[in-house]
Amino acid sequence: MTALHSTLHDIYDEVARRNPGEVEFHQAVYEVLNSLGPVVEKHPDYVDSAVIRRLCEPERQIIFRVPWLDDTGTVQINRGFRVEFNSALGPFKGGLRFHPSVYLGIVKFLGYEQIFKNSLTGLPIGGGKGGSDFDPKGRSDGEIMRFCQSFMTELYRHLGEYTDVPAGDIGVGMREIGYLFGQYKRITNRYESGVFTGKGLTWGGSQVRTEATGYGTVFFVDEILRANGQSFDGKQVVVSGSGNVAIYAIEKVHELGGTVVACSDSSGYVLDEKGIDLDLLKEVKELHRGRIADYADVRGGATLVTSRSVWEVQCDIALPCATQNELTGDDAALLIGSGCQIVAEGANMPCTPEAVKCFEAAGVTFAPGKAANAGGVATSALEMQQNASRDSWTFEDTEARLSEIMRRIHDRCLSTADDYGQPGNYVAGANIAGFIRVADAMLALGLV
Ligand code: NDP
Repeated sequence: MTALHSTLHDIYDEVARRNPGEVEFHQAVYEVLNSLGPVVEKHPDYVDSAVIRRLCEPERQIIFRVPWLDDTGTVQINRGFRVEFNSALGPFKGGLRFHPSVYLGIVKFLGYEQIFKNSLTGLPIGGGKGGSDFDPKGRSDGEIMRFCQSFMTELYRHLGEYTDVPAGDIGVGMREIGYLFGQYKRITNRYESGVFTGKGLTWGGSQVRTEATGYGTVFFVDEILRANGQSFDGKQVVVSGSGNVAIYAIEKVHELGGTVVACSDSSGYVLDEKGIDLDLLKEVKELHRGRIADYADVRGGATLVTSRSVWEVQCDIALPCATQNELTGDDAALLIGSGCQIVAEGANMPCTPEAVKCFEAAGVTFAPGKAANAGGVATSALEMQQNASRDSWTFEDTEARLSEIMRRIHDRCLSTADDYGQPGNYVAGANIAGFIRVADAMLALGLV
């Protein structure tokens, strides 16, 4: 890690001391503070008003018991979380993650990132995140439903279209959103479409929401390529993960003329030099909830590799779309060695600080998740807009809006990086632009 500006160092120390053991949260805070040195030099009022310190403390944190019955009639108990981090720009907004690794430190890192990401979109949404240590893998449909109903029986009282609006994340897709929304509706006796995003198209969802994060990440990379007089045409791409973000990133890369030759899950990666067969991947993952190994079993010429990292595969562009800290300094060295020129984070914080440092040192263009994967939440805000006006837009119209939002985020990152003397630095641009909008709103609202 590089040295922080001294005032910011004190703030970081305070965060680490007040939130012991929450290492992912510490990492996310450090990463933002590391960009704010030039901002506090230029605007000492952000320090005097303690706006940076206030931003590091969630407005509200909710932790609750989630009891449910499994298919054998045994009582299971999980822990639920919702961290309502910052509502200066709009209602708390951010997904729910169901994964055994979830604890307060993960939810706080995601919620903190979400504040700046949502701010960068330019849309009226605050930042929050939630989830549970529930593991959906291997659970029946009935178990998933009972878990979601129990989870919502506690969480509903904290939600509302003007208060807190969740969506999906790892382990939470349209099926789970349906069960959660159904229970919210039953308890509150309100068909409040705007309280959830990522809904099904026949019950208040938006076109392109399913595709939005993956598509948005690829639109962002397309802007980087254009800025350098290039395009996706003929580019070889590696994607990690094979969930929602990964699948639609692959789809858009193929539409724009690139070829994705590898993708993965937590058990390994598949190398498919002809290009990933997207229809087959969707069938395996979305229809049968299968594994990447099932894809390799039926796809002629594809190889399953279980013992090594997907980042050993040669590529021009790498899109980590799985989970936090999945791409290490060693992986970065592999990518740099094979000639990779652009890394864009479809997932949240998938690259470790060491990896980011390696990319910077080697001149690899690096697009951080809070900019590159903001298309998902931006389209959620478009879903809220359609719900509020009882309207629904076409796929083409919604996709055009998403593409325009990603272009604006890209340009905002670059122009802000220029303004603060770091041309071409997307990390600095995203952190500073995201920070300034939310910090100014906090100052305008008084001591909040
Ligand atoms: P999904 O649950 O749909 O997919 C996650 C994928 O990542 C799965 O294929 C999973 O494999 C894989 N994975 C998890 N851990 C690892 C690992 N250690 N190594 C390799 N693969 C792994 O989640 P999403 O696609 O929705 O989310 C992916 C990332 O994108 C997360 O960081 C999320 O926070 C971020 N994101 C998602 C948004 C959205 O709209 N969905 C919006 C913005 C960011 P397995 O099945 O084996 O666990």
